[in-house]
Amino acid sequence: MSNPVLTVSHLKKTFGENIVLKDIDFFANEKDVVSIIGASGSGKSTLLRCINQLEKPTSGDILFHDKNIQDSGFSLSNYRAKVGMVFQSFNLFNNLSVLQNCVVGQMKVLGRDRKEAEQRAMDILSKVGMDQYISAKPRQISGGQKQRVAIARALAMDPEILLFDEPTSALDPEMVGEVLNVMTSLAKTGLTMLVVTHEMDFARDVSNRIIFMDAGVILEDSTPEEIFNHPKNERTRMFLNRSI
Ligand code: ADP
Ligand code: MG
Repeated sequence: MSNPVLTVSHLKKTFGENIVLKDIDFFANEKDVVSIIGASGSGKSTLLRCINQLEKPTSGDILFHDKNIQDSGFSLSNYRAKVGMVFQSFNLFNNLSVLQNCVVGQMKVLGRDRKEAEQRAMDILSKVGMDQYISAKPRQISGGQKQRVAIARALAMDPEILLFDEPTSALDPEMVGEVLNVMTSLAKTGLTMLVVTHEMDFARDVSNRIIFMDAGVILEDSTPEEIFNHPKNERTRMFLNRSI
Protein backbone atom coordinates (compact mmCIF):
# COMPACT_ATOMS: atom_id res chain seq x y z
CA MET A 1 0.00 0.00 0.00
CA SER A 2 1.29 3.45 -0.86
CA ASN A 3 1.02 6.17 1.73
CA PRO A 4 -1.76 8.68 1.14
CA VAL A 5 -0.90 11.82 -0.82
CA LEU A 6 -3.22 13.77 1.43
CA THR A 7 -4.54 13.03 4.91
CA VAL A 8 -7.04 15.25 6.67
CA SER A 9 -7.69 14.56 10.34
CA HIS A 10 -10.06 16.14 12.83
CA LEU A 11 -10.33 19.21 10.64
CA LYS A 12 -12.52 21.91 12.08
CA LYS A 13 -13.30 25.34 10.65
CA THR A 14 -15.49 28.01 12.15
CA PHE A 15 -16.46 31.43 10.85
CA GLY A 16 -17.55 33.31 13.97
CA GLU A 17 -20.36 31.27 15.51
CA ASN A 18 -20.81 29.21 12.37
CA ILE A 19 -19.17 25.77 12.60
CA VAL A 20 -18.65 24.98 8.94
CA LEU A 21 -16.42 21.89 9.17
CA LYS A 22 -16.98 19.77 12.26
CA ASP A 23 -14.56 16.86 12.43
CA ILE A 24 -13.42 15.97 8.97
CA ASP A 25 -11.28 12.86 8.43
CA PHE A 26 -10.33 11.47 5.07
CA PHE A 27 -7.38 10.62 2.89
CA ALA A 28 -6.58 10.48 -0.80
CA ASN A 29 -4.18 7.91 -2.18
CA GLU A 30 -2.15 8.38 -5.32
CA LYS A 31 -4.40 8.09 -8.40
CA ASP A 32 -7.59 8.40 -6.39
CA VAL A 33 -10.34 10.38 -8.05
CA VAL A 34 -12.59 11.43 -5.19
CA SER A 35 -15.87 13.20 -5.87
CA ILE A 36 -17.18 15.35 -3.03
CA ILE A 37 -20.93 15.78 -3.18
CA GLY A 38 -23.48 17.42 -0.90
CA ALA A 39 -25.98 20.25 -0.68
CA SER A 40 -25.01 23.87 -1.04
CA GLY A 41 -23.63 25.21 2.24
CA SER A 42 -22.44 21.81 3.50
CA GLY A 43 -18.80 22.97 3.59
CA LYS A 44 -17.36 21.49 0.38
CA SER A 45 -15.60 24.65 -0.82
CA THR A 46 -14.32 25.43 2.66
CA LEU A 47 -12.80 21.95 2.83
CA LEU A 48 -10.93 22.47 -0.47
CA ARG A 49 -9.89 25.97 0.61
CA CYS A 50 -8.47 24.60 3.87
CA ILE A 51 -6.60 21.91 1.96
CA ASN A 52 -4.84 24.43 -0.25
CA GLN A 53 -4.50 26.92 2.61
CA LEU A 54 -6.69 29.62 1.16
CA GLU A 55 -8.39 29.27 4.57
CA LYS A 56 -6.67 28.54 7.85
CA PRO A 57 -8.20 25.58 9.70
CA THR A 58 -9.49 26.36 13.19
CA SER A 59 -8.03 23.05 14.36
CA GLY A 60 -7.00 19.67 13.01
CA ASP A 61 -4.24 18.47 10.74
CA ILE A 62 -3.61 18.28 7.02
CA LEU A 63 -0.72 16.07 5.92
CA PHE A 64 0.81 16.16 2.45
CA HIS A 65 2.49 12.79 2.22
CA ASP A 66 3.74 12.62 5.80
CA LYS A 67 4.38 16.34 6.33
CA ASN A 68 2.02 18.55 8.29
CA ILE A 69 1.34 21.57 6.08
CA GLN A 70 0.84 23.78 9.12
CA ASP A 71 4.32 23.12 10.51
CA SER A 72 6.49 26.21 10.63
CA GLY A 73 9.20 24.63 8.48
CA PHE A 74 6.78 23.57 5.76
CA SER A 75 7.19 25.41 2.45
CA LEU A 76 3.76 26.67 1.43
CA SER A 77 4.90 27.95 -1.94
CA ASN A 78 6.19 24.49 -2.93
CA TYR A 79 3.00 22.97 -1.64
CA ARG A 80 0.80 25.35 -3.61
CA ALA A 81 2.68 24.34 -6.75
CA LYS A 82 1.97 20.68 -6.05
CA VAL A 83 -1.67 21.16 -5.16
CA GLY A 84 -3.48 22.74 -8.09
CA MET A 85 -6.91 24.31 -7.91
CA VAL A 86 -9.59 24.81 -10.54
CA PHE A 87 -12.38 27.18 -9.54
CA GLN A 88 -16.00 27.46 -10.62
CA SER A 89 -15.36 31.00 -11.85
CA PHE A 90 -12.12 30.15 -13.78
CA ASN A 91 -10.03 32.90 -12.09
CA LEU A 92 -7.95 33.45 -15.23
CA PHE A 93 -5.77 36.54 -15.54
CA ASN A 94 -7.97 38.59 -17.87
CA ASN A 95 -5.18 40.84 -19.14
CA LEU A 96 -3.02 37.88 -20.21
CA SER A 97 -3.34 35.67 -23.28
CA VAL A 98 -4.30 32.02 -23.00
CA LEU A 99 -0.65 31.04 -23.40
CA GLN A 100 0.66 33.53 -20.83
CA ASN A 101 -1.99 32.40 -18.34
CA CYS A 102 -0.30 29.01 -18.49
CA VAL A 103 3.24 30.42 -18.37
CA VAL A 104 3.47 32.96 -15.54
CA GLY A 105 3.09 30.51 -12.65
CA GLN A 106 5.69 28.17 -14.08
CA MET A 107 8.23 31.01 -14.31
CA LYS A 108 7.40 32.63 -10.96
CA VAL A 109 6.90 29.58 -8.78
CA LEU A 110 8.89 26.83 -10.50
CA GLY A 111 11.64 29.07 -11.86
CA ARG A 112 11.35 27.76 -15.41
CA ASP A 113 12.66 29.98 -18.18
CA ARG A 114 10.20 31.41 -20.66
CA LYS A 115 11.05 29.02 -23.47
CA GLU A 116 10.61 25.92 -21.35
CA ALA A 117 7.43 27.28 -19.77
CA GLU A 118 5.92 28.12 -23.16
CA GLN A 119 6.78 24.67 -24.48
CA ARG A 120 5.11 23.00 -21.55
CA ALA A 121 2.07 25.30 -21.83
CA MET A 122 1.73 24.51 -25.55
CA ASP A 123 1.87 20.77 -24.88
CA ILE A 124 -0.88 20.95 -22.33
CA LEU A 125 -3.04 23.43 -24.20
CA SER A 126 -3.04 21.03 -27.12
CA LYS A 127 -4.09 18.20 -24.81
CA VAL A 128 -7.15 20.19 -23.70
CA GLY A 129 -7.85 21.25 -27.29
CA MET A 130 -6.96 24.91 -26.78
CA ASP A 131 -3.75 25.23 -28.81
CA GLN A 132 -5.62 27.15 -31.52
CA TYR A 133 -6.39 29.94 -29.03
CA ILE A 134 -3.00 30.71 -27.48
CA SER A 135 -3.13 34.41 -28.39
CA ALA A 136 -6.73 34.97 -27.34
CA LYS A 137 -7.61 36.86 -24.18
CA PRO A 138 -10.05 35.21 -21.77
CA ARG A 139 -12.88 37.59 -22.81
CA GLN A 140 -12.63 36.27 -26.38
CA ILE A 141 -13.32 32.62 -25.54
CA SER A 142 -16.34 30.73 -24.19
CA GLY A 143 -16.83 29.56 -20.62
CA GLY A 144 -16.03 25.97 -21.49
CA GLN A 145 -12.85 27.10 -23.23
CA LYS A 146 -11.90 29.28 -20.24
CA GLN A 147 -12.28 26.32 -17.92
CA ARG A 148 -10.13 24.15 -20.18
CA VAL A 149 -7.45 26.87 -20.06
CA ALA A 150 -7.76 27.01 -16.26
CA ILE A 151 -7.22 23.24 -16.13
CA ALA A 152 -4.22 23.55 -18.46
CA ARG A 153 -2.79 26.32 -16.29
CA ALA A 154 -3.05 24.09 -13.22
CA LEU A 155 -1.53 21.11 -15.07
CA ALA A 156 1.40 23.16 -16.35
CA MET A 157 2.65 23.28 -12.75
CA ASP A 158 2.96 19.46 -12.68
CA PRO A 159 0.70 19.12 -9.64
CA GLU A 160 0.59 15.94 -7.58
CA ILE A 161 -3.04 16.51 -6.80
CA LEU A 162 -5.64 18.70 -8.47
CA LEU A 163 -8.60 20.16 -6.59
CA PHE A 164 -11.72 21.13 -8.54
CA ASP A 165 -14.47 23.26 -7.00
CA GLU A 166 -17.61 22.81 -9.09
CA PRO A 167 -15.71 23.28 -12.36
CA THR A 168 -18.83 23.03 -14.52
CA SER A 169 -21.37 24.87 -12.37
CA ALA A 170 -20.89 28.25 -14.04
CA LEU A 171 -21.10 26.88 -17.57
CA ASP A 172 -23.93 26.91 -20.06
CA PRO A 173 -25.25 23.35 -20.36
CA GLU A 174 -23.82 22.81 -23.84
CA MET A 175 -20.30 23.45 -22.52
CA VAL A 176 -20.36 21.12 -19.56
CA GLY A 177 -19.47 18.07 -21.65
CA GLU A 178 -16.22 19.42 -23.08
CA VAL A 179 -14.90 20.16 -19.57
CA LEU A 180 -16.04 16.81 -18.16
CA ASN A 181 -14.32 15.08 -21.10
CA VAL A 182 -11.03 16.77 -20.24
CA MET A 183 -11.44 15.80 -16.57
CA THR A 184 -12.28 12.22 -17.51
CA SER A 185 -9.14 11.88 -19.60
CA LEU A 186 -7.08 13.37 -16.78
CA ALA A 187 -8.49 10.80 -14.39
CA LYS A 188 -7.39 8.08 -16.81
CA THR A 189 -3.81 9.38 -16.77
CA GLY A 190 -3.66 8.59 -13.05
CA LEU A 191 -3.71 12.15 -11.75
CA THR A 192 -4.92 12.33 -8.14
CA MET A 193 -8.07 14.46 -8.13
CA LEU A 194 -10.53 15.82 -5.56
CA VAL A 195 -13.62 17.06 -7.33
CA VAL A 196 -16.50 18.94 -5.74
CA THR A 197 -19.31 18.39 -8.20
CA HIS A 198 -23.03 18.18 -8.82
CA GLU A 199 -22.42 16.06 -11.92
CA MET A 200 -23.66 12.72 -10.66
CA ASP A 201 -22.71 10.86 -13.86
CA PHE A 202 -19.10 11.98 -13.42
CA ALA A 203 -19.16 11.02 -9.73
CA ARG A 204 -20.55 7.58 -10.52
CA ASP A 205 -18.61 6.75 -13.68
CA VAL A 206 -15.23 8.44 -13.26
CA SER A 207 -14.41 8.63 -9.57
CA ASN A 208 -13.31 5.63 -7.56
CA ARG A 209 -14.60 7.14 -4.32
CA ILE A 210 -17.38 9.48 -3.34
CA ILE A 211 -17.59 11.56 -0.19
CA PHE A 212 -21.02 12.82 0.82
CA MET A 213 -20.92 15.92 3.01
CA ASP A 214 -23.81 17.21 5.05
CA ALA A 215 -23.72 20.20 7.41
CA GLY A 216 -19.96 20.13 7.90
CA VAL A 217 -19.49 16.40 8.37
CA ILE A 218 -18.66 13.51 6.07
CA LEU A 219 -21.67 11.20 6.26
CA GLU A 220 -20.37 8.67 3.76
CA ASP A 221 -17.03 7.88 2.14
CA SER A 222 -17.34 4.92 -0.13
CA THR A 223 -17.29 3.57 -3.66
CA PRO A 224 -19.74 4.93 -6.25
CA GLU A 225 -21.41 1.54 -6.35
CA GLU A 226 -22.04 1.61 -2.55
CA ILE A 227 -23.18 5.22 -2.45
CA PHE A 228 -25.54 4.98 -5.40
CA ASN A 229 -26.89 1.49 -4.80
CA HIS A 230 -26.65 1.01 -1.04
CA PRO A 231 -26.42 4.42 0.65
CA LYS A 232 -26.03 3.88 4.36
CA ASN A 233 -27.54 7.15 5.40
CA GLU A 234 -31.05 8.45 4.89
CA ARG A 235 -29.70 11.92 4.08
CA THR A 236 -27.52 10.51 1.31
CA ARG A 237 -30.58 8.80 -0.15
CA MET A 238 -32.56 12.03 -0.04
CA PHE A 239 -29.76 14.02 -1.64
CA LEU A 240 -29.27 11.50 -4.44
CA ASN A 241 -32.99 11.30 -5.13
CA ARG A 242 -33.06 15.06 -5.58
CA SER A 243 -29.91 15.12 -7.73
CA ILE A 244 -30.44 12.37 -10.26
P1 ADP B 1 -20.47 24.59 -0.13
O1 ADP B 1 -19.25 24.77 -0.97
O2 ADP B 1 -20.73 23.16 0.25
O3 ADP B 1 -21.69 25.21 -0.75
P2 ADP B 1 -19.18 26.45 1.64
O4 ADP B 1 -17.95 25.81 2.12
O5 ADP B 1 -19.06 27.48 0.58
O6 ADP B 1 -20.25 25.34 1.25
O7 ADP B 1 -19.91 27.18 2.85
C1 ADP B 1 -20.24 26.53 4.05
C2 ADP B 1 -20.68 27.55 5.08
O8 ADP B 1 -19.58 28.38 5.40
C3 ADP B 1 -21.78 28.46 4.60
O9 ADP B 1 -22.67 28.65 5.69
C4 ADP B 1 -21.07 29.75 4.28
O10 ADP B 1 -21.90 30.85 4.48
C5 ADP B 1 -19.92 29.75 5.27
N1 ADP B 1 -18.74 30.46 4.78
C6 ADP B 1 -17.96 30.07 3.76
N2 ADP B 1 -16.93 30.92 3.57
C7 ADP B 1 -17.09 31.90 4.51
C8 ADP B 1 -16.36 33.08 4.87
N3 ADP B 1 -15.23 33.43 4.20
N4 ADP B 1 -16.81 33.82 5.89
C9 ADP B 1 -17.92 33.47 6.58
N5 ADP B 1 -18.65 32.37 6.31
C10 ADP B 1 -18.25 31.60 5.30
MG1 MG C 1 -19.00 25.56 -2.83
